[in-house]
Amino acid sequence: MTVAKRTFDAVIVGAGGAGLRAALQLSEAGLKTAVLTKVFPTRSHTVAAQGGVAASLGNSTEDNWHWHMYDTVKGSDWLGDQDAIEFMCRKANEVVVELEHYGMPFDRTDNGKIYQRPFGGHSQNYGQTPVSRSCAAADRTGHAMLHALYQRNVRANTQFFVEWMALDLVRDSEGNVVGVTALEMETGEVTIFHCRATIFATGGAGRIYHSSTNAFINTGDGAGMAARAGIPLEDMEFWQFHPTGVAGAGVLITEGVRGEGGILRNASGERFMERYAPNLKDLASRDVVSRAMTTEINEGRGCGPDKDYVLLDITHLAPETIMKRLPGIREIAIQFAGVDPIKEPIPVVPTCHYQMGGIPTNYKGQVVVPKNGDPNSAVSGFYAAGECACASVHGANRLGTNSLLDLLVFGKSAGETVVEDFNSGALPLRELPADAADYSLSRMSRLESQTNGESVFDVGLEMRRTMQKHAGVFRFDDLLKEGVAKINEVAERAKRTEIKDKSKVWNTARMEALELDNLIEVAKATMVSAEARKESRGAHVRDDAPDTPETPNGRNDKEWLKHTLWYSEGNRLDYKPVNLNPLNADTKPIALAKRTY
Ligand SMILES: Cc1cc2nc3c(=O)[nH]c(=O)nc-3n(C[C@H](O)[C@H](O)[C@H](O)COP(=O)(O)OP(=O)(O)OC[C@H]3O[C@@H](n4cnc5c(N)ncnc54)[C@H](O)[C@@H]3O)c2cc1C
Repeated sequence: MTVAKRTFDAVIVGAGGAGLRAALQLSEAGLKTAVLTKVFPTRSHTVAAQGGVAASLGNSTEDNWHWHMYDTVKGSDWLGDQDAIEFMCRKANEVVVELEHYGMPFDRTDNGKIYQRPFGGHSQNYGQTPVSRSCAAADRTGHAMLHALYQRNVRANTQFFVEWMALDLVRDSEGNVVGVTALEMETGEVTIFHCRATIFATGGAGRIYHSSTNAFINTGDGAGMAARAGIPLEDMEFWQFHPTGVAGAGVLITEGVRGEGGILRNASGERFMERYAPNLKDLASRDVVSRAMTTEINEGRGCGPDKDYVLLDITHLAPETIMKRLPGIREIAIQFAGVDPIKEPIPVVPTCHYQMGGIPTNYKGQVVVPKNGDPNSAVSGFYAAGECACASVHGANRLGTNSLLDLLVFGKSAGETVVEDFNSGALPLRELPADAADYSLSRMSRLESQTNGESVFDVGLEMRRTMQKHAGVFRFDDLLKEGVAKINEVAERAKRTEIKDKSKVWNTARMEALELDNLIEVAKATMVSAEARKESRGAHVRDDAPDTPETPNGRNDKEWLKHTLWYSEGNRLDYKPVNLNPLNADTKPIALAKRTY
């Protein structure tokens, strides 16, 4: 197979919110930038974001970044790095207003300011009362945001490679990143993209689970490519289950529904969140609400013939409010649940939604790995932002609307760092190794020649079922141990996948087989990291971690206040410290405390 080569200053893999925000920074600074994407940019999963983007603008209720920082650290169950969290919360107003100036059509308050609604875990005065912090464009915030960013990139002459799938990271003998290999879907040909800076913005991997709110393209390609190239994945045991996926379908019903006044009810009509979170009730943090719902269902108070879901009730809201603020949700409820939420409550269950972990980065967007005694040594030429990255601002549990904010802040920050490094001469165009494409070509040729192999669909299904059963909302020691053995078995099978269709042009079977390789890395990282963490923290809750004064909610800070690092080679784990110090000396650290809402 011939391999073409193209050279750029920077290559960004991914055209969701994070990739587009980073691209804008580079193109406007005059760098020759290529953006590779599996789908047309505005079809990236960011387009599905409904509820909003967090910023303490204080347009509807009093607010400030200190409160936002406190909520985010507490939401992360203290696993988030406080320097990155401070950076994000302080930057929020700037990046949201900037987005507005790019043309983002936010909803408005009566006096013309950006409309803001309450969201889970966001509060005033350090956890006292809910605050309106989520800036929203009806229930289509991601859609509006992605289009505004795309149009701005067209204006800045960013060069897009649409329907190109990056395959592998290329590193030189010293470990510097010098580019990626990619498959042009239309032709089936492989090209090497040689560049000074590579930014991964490939989004999440929610498709490792059976029931997921994620798009089918969310296959963790960035994480898989990084892991295969020797970069560890951070905190992969932490997955967010969104409380309100449509029962049976998984499609998301935004938390904005509860922000607008929606209430969760069990079979007897009880507003059960009053028992679990007396202060914030239905607007407690997502992990807390998901566990409460699962407990109601497990204890027989679920609804329906199989008692396997609860109800999200907005029938008490004015129909005009629903039509104005939640039009997309009404459509989803009618199509996927068969109920009109103006008249009837929506059946919902917790559904896999978001990966808190990912490729380790610092707040500047540089990818960092342990090296020579430094746990956070930057890998030259490699950057990451968005859901595929772990900055780490979400720690063990992300607050709703903090992800769209993460895309804007760290997409911009990664772009700024690349421009700085470029201008200071710290980003030479390093030589490409002679064997740069060999690894990708060997993966492709194995698929060409494999006979009597495994079906990609069967292996994928086994992976999704294993993850759902063994690493779900609640976690049990024996199930996790079995899960590790099972997922290792599935991973062995994935090495022998076979595709029947060997054609070159737009061969979706080949793409799915290559995506499965990435999903498997993420699934292994998740299971192995989860089995090892013998405590409950944020979204990772084990039944055998007792709630005592020394271990609040089962969280064991003495032994487990540390980030997990999983290495693909050897399927092994390492750990690194959490940064409990804010970025600026005059910002007070948020002290460890029990997490209650
Ligand atoms: C249904 C839903 C609703 C949500 N609502 C909200 C919300 O209201 N507020 C909030 O803060 N968060 C929300 N989230 C989370 C948030 O939307 C995501 O975390 C975020 O949009 C991810 O953005 P991203 O830029 O990192 O990746 P994505 O938007 O997922 O984009 C990934 C990009 O990478 C490309 N790509 C991937 N692999 C490859 C490859 N191998 N080669 C080339 N290109 C590749 C894709 O083509 C795509 O362009 C929601 C998530 C979901 C699923």
